[in-house]
Amino acid sequence: MNIACFETTPTDSDRLAAALPGHELRFFPEPLTEQNADLAKDCEAISVFIYSELTEKTLSKLPGLRSIATRSTGFDHIDLDECLQRDISVMNVPSYGENTVAEHTFALILALSRNVHKSYARGQKGDYSIDGLMGFDLAGRTLGVIGTGRIGMHVIRIAKGFGMHVLAYDTRRDVFLSEILHFRYAELDEVLESSDIVTLHIPLLESTRHFMDHDKISRMKRGSLLINTSRGGIIDNPALIEGLDRGVLAGAGLDVVEGEEHIREENQCLHKNCSARKAEHAAENRDLLSRDNVVFTPHIGFYSQEALLRILDTTAENLRAFADGKSINTVR
Ligand code: NAD
Repeated sequence: MNIACFETTPTDSDRLAAALPGHELRFFPEPLTEQNADLAKDCEAISVFIYSELTEKTLSKLPGLRSIATRSTGFDHIDLDECLQRDISVMNVPSYGENTVAEHTFALILALSRNVHKSYARGQKGDYSIDGLMGFDLAGRTLGVIGTGRIGMHVIRIAKGFGMHVLAYDTRRDVFLSEILHFRYAELDEVLESSDIVTLHIPLLESTRHFMDHDKISRMKRGSLLINTSRGGIIDNPALIEGLDRGVLAGAGLDVVEGEEHIREENQCLHKNCSARKAEHAAENRDLLSRDNVVFTPHIGFYSQEALLRILDTTAENLRAFADGKSINTVR
């Protein structure tokens, strides 16, 4: 089978090549887009990460494509309706260790609660003063967890280790685990109004885009923190900026931001032709990332040694199964 793998590093290509002997593999560091789709025009299968644009237009340039193996849990970058029309099977990595993103969620929370980022920046300048660096304990505080799936549930386990109270909101409640882990489900308003820190673990769907909008951010407890390791589009950027400006939010920890795929192209975006929305995202993200009460990481929640190997191994299994006429981990 001819397989084109996009957004790959040398580690990715070595591991996938070793796991898929007998197949024709090609590796490209860049995302797959409408413009470079020719690179895969003779392929039956492709593997991508989340910055590839699997739109109707890109897919129309891949006439022989039968299978997409995304090296991610989320698949909001793939036009599933178009894949259905064209009978293209789409496989993801449903789970590669819920602990990985949950641990990163606490890296962001602790950076903000103990001013680790500000201390580091001062230390780099030889400044050893502690003025303005007083933090707060997590023990006894209330964590609001929105989305109690695999990652959210692991966040709750860690929070309990810190001695935090946990309030949770999900459209599907796991009453059994709420009893075992000693947390309480509540209505969304109560979670927003009563939590010192709110952390987001819901998928990006059309129904959850801008889930955290002006109204919901306004309802949050004054001086609370908002953490996002899910997808950037879950938060409306202008509403977040306003919440920080008005002091409703004391800070934000963001592993993902809406329009993150354009941050690297920001200069291009500011000076050359680009859509108005893309330019707005670039300006909003520049504003957010320059604030000292916003801790930002460039979508590395998943990026631990152990998780990366599990992602690559599951992707190879998905592609092998497809080549053998079986279907595993299909989202379509
Ligand atoms: P999951 O499917 O196990 O859990 C998602 C939960 O959200 C489910 O319990 C579901 O019922 C709930 N939910 C869905 N819509 C909701 C709504 N409107 N309101 C309330 N609850 C709702 O997913 P997961 O494995 O825990 O991952 C969560 C998200 O984290 C993924 O969708 C992905 O976008 C993101 N993620 C990010 C990284 C990263 O590197 N930062 C890595 C992996 C996953």
